[in-house]
Amino acid sequence: MKIDFKYQGLPWNILFSPGAIKKLPEELSKLGYKRALVLSTPQQVNQANDLAALLDTACVGVFSDAVMQVPMETVTAAISAVKDLKADCSVSIGGGSTTGLGKALAIKSDLPNIAIPTTYAGSEMTNIWAITEAGRKTTGRDIRVVPNLTIYDPELTLSLPSHIAGPSGLNAMAQAVVNVTTKNMNPIISLLALDAVRSLSKYLPLIIEQPGNLKARSAVLYGACLAGASLGTGSTSLHHRLCHTFGGSFNTPHAETHTVLLPHSVAFNAAATKEGTRQLANAMEVNDPAVGIFKLAKIVGAPTALKDIGVKEADLDKAVAIATEKELENPEPVTKERLRLLLDNAYHGKVPEAV
Ligand code: NAD
Repeated sequence: MKIDFKYQGLPWNILFSPGAIKKLPEELSKLGYKRALVLSTPQQVNQANDLAALLDTACVGVFSDAVMQVPMETVTAAISAVKDLKADCSVSIGGGSTTGLGKALAIKSDLPNIAIPTTYAGSEMTNIWAITEAGRKTTGRDIRVVPNLTIYDPELTLSLPSHIAGPSGLNAMAQAVVNVTTKNMNPIISLLALDAVRSLSKYLPLIIEQPGNLKARSAVLYGACLAGASLGTGSTSLHHRLCHTFGGSFNTPHAETHTVLLPHSVAFNAAATKEGTRQLANAMEVNDPAVGIFKLAKIVGAPTALKDIGVKEADLDKAVAIATEKELENPEPVTKERLRLLLDNAYHGKVPEAV
């Protein structure tokens, strides 16, 4: 085996256990923070209020207006709250939208952030931030957005409904899969990504079948943590370019977009990533990982066709044009013609195949 790689880790500080949330006051105090602003979406304001009660005097307020895409207006309103309340850190409880707001505050006002993830988006393990202004989503990588502490408490995910959990778990799969099916495989990132794939593919169906199964919930959250870690220290290619295109230009829902496109991106790159595809197949215990991911989406009741998540057939040509505007590093050469065929398969929800 040829060993030849470069790896730069991120400064993760993780606490993972059922009931870990109860340790937040002690952990916050260890980090020296005394005035936390709790962030959440309007849908999770009750969980945010519970957290505020747990923190008692170490919490100065709750900002519960986090929404998808991290709009600049929301960031500006949250910055005002930080200033008015003299907050010294943010504590995000929620999915990628809420974690994203904590990261935006870290970038825009140097506010330390703490993440308590309750979906499988994995954002808390990456250095990637995003802010949307005047309809344009800007993203970047910056070490300042990596949370100073992440608390994974699987008990908090018991309330995640199946229609969100299924696509969210496949979103996590995508973070891991793109870092295995790559030409420049990195042994450390592969370890993270393949264990993520094993855990997610085995336990995701179980949390849909038995939503109250804490062991399965823990395993999926663990998979999401590792998948986020592989994305945080790895790279992206065609798959993320396509997801960014549909999410950014056609406003498709984030996790569902990943779910629909992932099997087709994997099939597209399979011939150029034989070793990664073989390892992925082993981790999933299937012959063809593209088909395996497609079937997994069906098993967990997640969408498998672009037409079912708000895309119109007439949008496909425009999507090809946008996705190929900028140069893209991808194992298989990407041409407009091949991309159009891929999108046609994804639009109709066909079984994935090489195009
Ligand atoms: P989300 O954060 O919008 O959550 C979806 C819905 O589920 C929300 O209403 C939320 O309040 C609710 N919810 C979350 N946890 C719950 C629980 N345990 N019980 C009940 N309801 C719950 O969606 P998401 O898919 O987690 O995140 C998507 C966003 O994250 C996108 O904007 C995406 O761009 C971003 N993201 C960023 C990165 C990164 O590295 N920067 C990685 C992945 C995703």
